[in-house]
Amino acid sequence: MLETKEFQTESKKLLDLMINSIYSEKEIFLRELISNASDAIDKYRYLSLTEPEKYPFTDFFIRLNVDKKGRYIEIVDNGVGMSKEDMITNLGTIAKSGSKDFIAKIEEAKKAEDFSIIGQFGVGFYSAFMVADKVEVISKPVDGDAHIFSSKGQETFTIDDATMEQPHGTIVRVYLKKDEKEGVSYSDYLEQYRIKSLVKKYSDYVRYPIKMMETRSVQDVDAEGKPIQGKYHDVVEDSTLNSMVPLWKKNPSEVKEEDLNAFYKSKTYDTEDPLLALNFQVDGLISYNALVFIPAHAPYNLYSENYEKGLTLYSKGIFIQDKCKELVPDYLKFITGLVDSDSLPLNISREMLQKSPALSKIADSIEKKVVDRLKTMLKNDRAKYEKFFSVFGDHIKFGIYSSYGMRAGELQDLLLFHSMNKGSLISLAEYVAEVQKDQKVIYYASGKTLDEVKMLPQLEAYRKKGVDVLLFDKNIDEFAITTIPEYQKLKFVNIASESKEDLSQEEKDALDSLTAEHKRVLDNIKEALVGKVDDVAFSAKLVDSPVCITTREGLSLNMEHVLADQPGAEDFTDRPKAIKVLEINGESNLFKAIAALGNDEDVKKYGALLYNEALLLEGYDIEDKKGFVQNLNELMMKAMSK
Ligand code: ADP
Repeated sequence: MLETKEFQTESKKLLDLMINSIYSEKEIFLRELISNASDAIDKYRYLSLTEPEKYPFTDFFIRLNVDKKGRYIEIVDNGVGMSKEDMITNLGTIAKSGSKDFIAKIEEAKKAEDFSIIGQFGVGFYSAFMVADKVEVISKPVDGDAHIFSSKGQETFTIDDATMEQPHGTIVRVYLKKDEKEGVSYSDYLEQYRIKSLVKKYSDYVRYPIKMMETRSVQDVDAEGKPIQGKYHDVVEDSTLNSMVPLWKKNPSEVKEEDLNAFYKSKTYDTEDPLLALNFQVDGLISYNALVFIPAHAPYNLYSENYEKGLTLYSKGIFIQDKCKELVPDYLKFITGLVDSDSLPLNISREMLQKSPALSKIADSIEKKVVDRLKTMLKNDRAKYEKFFSVFGDHIKFGIYSSYGMRAGELQDLLLFHSMNKGSLISLAEYVAEVQKDQKVIYYASGKTLDEVKMLPQLEAYRKKGVDVLLFDKNIDEFAITTIPEYQKLKFVNIASESKEDLSQEEKDALDSLTAEHKRVLDNIKEALVGKVDDVAFSAKLVDSPVCITTREGLSLNMEHVLADQPGAEDFTDRPKAIKVLEINGESNLFKAIAALGNDEDVKKYGALLYNEALLLEGYDIEDKKGFVQNLNELMMKAMSK
């Protein structure tokens, strides 16, 4: 019975975009339809293993039929097929987040008249409307009747009963638009050579044969079998257009980097080569083949909620799952690729498979391979590694932090930080290689930006002594480092912490005697800063600046601010706080002048001023701006009236 239905609103938008796409992108429609056909066969093949009675095994194929008179091309598969309801939901609506992201992106791009990004998305079935003025889909599931979906890509589509010779599968019939006078020749897609080259370009690695009846011109022969000059006849032959051999089943030594890159691009729609392509085979108790890629840039939706990490999983060559997240630790969520293993049980459910010990062993082994390859890259190709680190370095730090340092052993040598002395990125090993003889710790300083960190007053003493300090400018940096207990027996010390570990006895004694001498001044300042800092003390870190803020064990000032900036943090009244100390440069003229003041109230006011000055120097805002201005004005008035 013929029924007419409306497309969902978002589908209409996508259809509209497809119809108005530009010429150069149109050809991807064939890639998309073949990929759908291949997915449908994958699904059937999986079912035929788990429920062989209902889904008998068969020779799988994708077939392309061309009808020049009728101006259509058909993409036929013997996959799972669709019921009437399936067609209404799958073809009448778009549920995929990918397509929704695409609509948003293209609407942005449309303003700039840049449609070229279509090719970077798997926009699926609707891409047929880039070249078609009508599309019909005839489909039949194993256990149901055949139906035909038909649409001209406008508001509505129809569904009707149909017949189909195959026991299951789908025929997508694409009626090509009329050629335009200038430019677009849709008739091109009816030409054998064009179809063949498109399959080679986009679908060569599809694992099922893509077949087509091909017409070849063959020279006539005489009775004795000798070719007759200038006489030809046409032969129609069934031919397979794709090479089909899964790349990952070939011996890795025979696979060229270009092949890997081409495979990566065809799978991800990325237009750039991957930064790293790994192709390896592991044999042993657990055996598997894998292709793993690190993209040259973060995937467009990596930081969106609907990004799914994972590798495609095959078992004995049979597709199991598209994004198997168990294969990839969170901190490597940007890697893509696939794994095909002979060691996974096939006759269990996907859920059971995800929990199988074999799968987690494979995951561990892949993680190790990726990390090892990155270490090699750092050693042999510094520029490339720095590129990697600029894009994904924070993920590595996250890997250390999120494992509470358990992964530090493997990952710490992948870290790079800015070196104060060198002005470039260095690894921890490189830092340690150049520490000064009596240096027992690795120093770091942290802040919101590199420029701000460089201005920290606490750096002065280290600069003067020539001691290098790692400069942290990312929120994650310090959180990650504080989970690493030590590196090559050296502990990590924030130069903005109150630590006195690195002071000589002499320096310590000098601080003690200063403290005894100026107890009254310190107490007054402390009183003025109740609730703001926990202590006021003399510093051995300052050379030119009069003050700085340091923290006692636990959170640093920077970490306190990072935590306070987290979404929703304002709802927590008992947020963790840093234990703060206002450190004063006892040698500075400013302090000497304050110490010489006779009036305790004045000392307090100057103390409050010094505290705000320290906040500013450390890159933070003054908390009580009104109080600060009042205080400053009073002190100015007093100074001027003297
Ligand atoms: P995607 O394939 O990325 O999910 P599409 O818009 O291409 O998105 O297709 C939507 C859905 O329609 C598919 O997920 C699938 O369920 C169904 N479908 C499309 N083509 C076929 C086909 N040849 N055989 C069976 N189902 C199909």
